[in-house]
Amino acid sequence: MILDDFSLKGKVAVVTGANTGLGQGMCVALAQAGAKVAGVARRSCAETSELIKKDGGEFFEVIADLSDTSNAPVILEKVVEKFGRADILVNNAGIILREDAINVTEEDWNKVININLNMVFLLSQTFAKQFVKQGDGGKIVNVASMTSYQGGIRIPAYTSSKSAVLGLTRALANEWASKGINVNAIAPGYMATNNTTQLRDDEKRSGEILERIPAGRWGTPKDMAGAVVFLCSKAAEYVNGFTIAVDGGWLAR
Ligand code: NAP
Repeated sequence: MILDDFSLKGKVAVVTGANTGLGQGMCVALAQAGAKVAGVARRSCAETSELIKKDGGEFFEVIADLSDTSNAPVILEKVVEKFGRADILVNNAGIILREDAINVTEEDWNKVININLNMVFLLSQTFAKQFVKQGDGGKIVNVASMTSYQGGIRIPAYTSSKSAVLGLTRALANEWASKGINVNAIAPGYMATNNTTQLRDDEKRSGEILERIPAGRWGTPKDMAGAVVFLCSKAAEYVNGFTIAVDGGWLAR
């Protein structure tokens, strides 16, 4: 039956940036759909763990700094040691640094590109090798952005990284679809998390943004639930290389 295809029972899902925001919301959703969830973060995921465990779900915390790309195989190793396998990777962790393009330093540029793009590729590659070894496919979901389609303002490295995530999603999907690995992405619109605190604190920008969102509100971590469970499930078996917007209609304007 169709709803059975959305179940993630028996699957092991790994979500980066699991301690807060959209990552936390997606961890909870994947656990509610039946997956055992490993959350990667550089600080405690106690809140996420509590949210999942109170619903009877299983959560495992992997503390790792994603700015150190040598951590990609270490993360996989810890997950496999705990759960014996991995089926789903959600590349959610990301940073944004706001500065006029004319003043952005090379160091800050590299910081953003390293976490938002380099680590997304290296983790995807590391997990894809594991999926191939296991022999029954896998799901990778990247977190893109409205800046995968638009330029944004004062965030040149972020826009470049998220535009590249959209392209990388297509490129990996093309190579790995034949191995039973689905690579897709979700492009969130304007969501109320730490990532947008600065924007929401700016009354003028915040008002302009809100006025342009057809749904008339900022998104929340819970709004990611349906899309991420779908893309990680059997129901999305023939969906490859696509980026789904969860944006309250922002891109439709
Ligand atoms: P957030 O609350 O700032 O969460 C970002 C997550 O990434 C946090 O868990 C953060 O951990 C983690 N992270 C950052 N640097 C890390 C590092 N070096 N090592 C390990 N973890 C690291 O923002 P969010 O809105 O939930 O963002 C989640 C994703 O959605 C990001 O890729 C973001 O670009 C994307 N996105 C957000 C929006 C939005 O409107 N909020 C829109 C489009 C796309 P710490 O708490 O330790 O920093």
